[in-house]
Amino acid sequence: MSSEPDDAVKTICPYCGVGCGIRVREGDDPGDMRFMPWGDAPVNEGSVCIKGGAATQVVDHEDRLTEPLIKEDGEFREATWDEALTRVVDEMEQIREVHGPDGMGFFGSSKTFNEENYLIQKLARRYGTNQVDNCTRMCHASTVWALRTSLGMGAMTNSMADLEEAADVLWIQGANPGEQHPIANSQYFRQAVLEGATVIQVDPHANKTTRSFDIEETDRHMHLQLNPGTDIPLLNVVLKTILERHEAEPDAGWIDESFVDERAKGFDHLKETLADFDKEAAAEECGVPLEDIELAAEKYAMANNAAIFTGMGMSQHTCGVDNVQNEINLALVTGNLGRPGTGVNPLRGQNNVQGTCDVGAMPNVLPGYQLVDDDEARESVEEVWGFEIPAEPGLTNVEISHAIGDTVHGLYVMGENPIMSEPDGNETEKRFREDLGFLVVQDIFMTETAELADVVLPATTWAERGGTVTNTDRRVQRMRGVHKVHENTRHDLDILCEVGTRLFDGGEFDFDGPEDVFEELREVCPIMHGMTYDALGETGIHWPCYEEGDEGDSYLYESEFETDDGLGRIEGVVHQDPKETPDEEYPLVLTTARLEEHYNTGTMSRRSPTLSRQHPENFVDVHPADAERYGIEDGDDVTLRSRRGEIRVRADVTEDIKEGVVWTTPHFAAASANRLTNDVLDERAKIPEYKAAAAEIEVD
Ligand code: SF4
Repeated sequence: MSSEPDDAVKTICPYCGVGCGIRVREGDDPGDMRFMPWGDAPVNEGSVCIKGGAATQVVDHEDRLTEPLIKEDGEFREATWDEALTRVVDEMEQIREVHGPDGMGFFGSSKTFNEENYLIQKLARRYGTNQVDNCTRMCHASTVWALRTSLGMGAMTNSMADLEEAADVLWIQGANPGEQHPIANSQYFRQAVLEGATVIQVDPHANKTTRSFDIEETDRHMHLQLNPGTDIPLLNVVLKTILERHEAEPDAGWIDESFVDERAKGFDHLKETLADFDKEAAAEECGVPLEDIELAAEKYAMANNAAIFTGMGMSQHTCGVDNVQNEINLALVTGNLGRPGTGVNPLRGQNNVQGTCDVGAMPNVLPGYQLVDDDEARESVEEVWGFEIPAEPGLTNVEISHAIGDTVHGLYVMGENPIMSEPDGNETEKRFREDLGFLVVQDIFMTETAELADVVLPATTWAERGGTVTNTDRRVQRMRGVHKVHENTRHDLDILCEVGTRLFDGGEFDFDGPEDVFEELREVCPIMHGMTYDALGETGIHWPCYEEGDEGDSYLYESEFETDDGLGRIEGVVHQDPKETPDEEYPLVLTTARLEEHYNTGTMSRRSPTLSRQHPENFVDVHPADAERYGIEDGDDVTLRSRRGEIRVRADVTEDIKEGVVWTTPHFAAASANRLTNDVLDERAKIPEYKAAAAEIEVD
């Protein structure tokens, strides 16, 4: 007989995009929340990583915001909800009157649910602007762009379960699932490896993924440790090798000719792009032996089913779209799409990073990736909403920040911490402090951004409310809340409805809870049209789910792509240097990544005793040769500096990183990597180049 208490609710871990099921129940003390495993959870079957197990620690944390706050004479004072919301609405009306609707920007958040992000983008559009974006811009905007343009949908093509069962090769580039998606790595990837899959990891850093598979045969686990920013040349060596070998052995299966002929276009462009490509020079530029890249190419091309996993090491570059396009090229020419165990699969960072985009919290798309400048799509949404939507796409996340004081005068931030998450943090903070007319932040803690706000609205945590989130493989799952810990906090959804109702009197924000919002969301979002709360049940449903009763698709593109002509798009791409490369003054390449024990800007994980004990402060990985050159001993305090600022961190001297490269993390307010990173953007997707900047290091 089960000894589990009846009051535990089944919900989803609030941290990464794997979307593990957990259970939460009230503890013995008032307000206390307890974690409990969920043994038959659909994604993780009860397993969790250290973050999932510690997730409830922040729910009743002493730092929780418990009352609305208004800043007066530079100091916060407690206010009633009526006072705080009146101030928010007055300021928003004033900004619209003086500067027009594009004077405001709206930031949704992948830490919040589908229903809440749906509402914030509806609020922005009702206000009269498409200037709404979310933190996905910072992690996978380029991936979404490339996948949508070339295959039709901006999401993982396959699901973790079908990859585990069918993939013979796991090609993991610019991603570190051992650290950042631990259950995907330990459960799905490990199972594929146990069944014989080969792992090819392409990353400048040796990391937990590198060490996580006990594969004895060295050629079944290759780590191509390339120089940061050389992913295009490396993949071009792979592609050129496949083209050359196919020419020499046309029947050996290097290229899937019928797939290329029937399901793709642009192959000639790829061949032209690579006609004079010099593999030896490219391999040298990558810092990887040519024969290793050629062997990896052979393993990928000769696999029955090969799956690519792509992460922020690929997307966070000014050539991020091209990086991912080259992965798509590889999958298309070898026919590795449209069946289990294949595909191009972005590993998404946050628990609802997929859903935030799906529901339209982006400046260029409405729910379901319907383009705002497509008249037909816009009109179909207008018919449900009952108001006109602006046709011009708005500014993106970092562009909104850049426009502060120029065209942007007010900002509504829900659950985001741009002061730490945006690149060139010192400049970002200066703009927020000096040039922003009005800032409202809706959050659970006094974040580095909330400290600069005019009004702070105390929200409830993930464990206190219900809604849905969409994990990395497009599975929409329900989150269920226990109860409110602090009486005077409010759910994000209720706050947005109240602001919307005070601003507009047409009933557009008159909702009776998350299910009511979801019903409208699915009406305007074709890919979720067939989903209901009842149908989602405990297992969730992968989108697309067009009709009620559909079970959703675990993998996409079985018979055709979702492009206008049904064809996948191959397009040759060429190497572009990062916008900032080492020179005499800043001779090192700085690159950044996350840790298993922390979560983005650390607002939650830094407050978890379990997690912060593991990693209480930031550090920088330095290669032994660089350490010797700069007189650094392991454990020394050093200053890490770029053209934009400096941080003081502890040096970890390690051969995990390549000579000439330094590696640090964005999680810690006292020494955040984003004080140093470059805010230059990929031209199309507008994602910043977090992964490569010029830096210097100095021992104190
Ligand atoms: Fe949570 Fe991700 Fe860990 Fe699963 S793998 S428990 S979703 S942080």
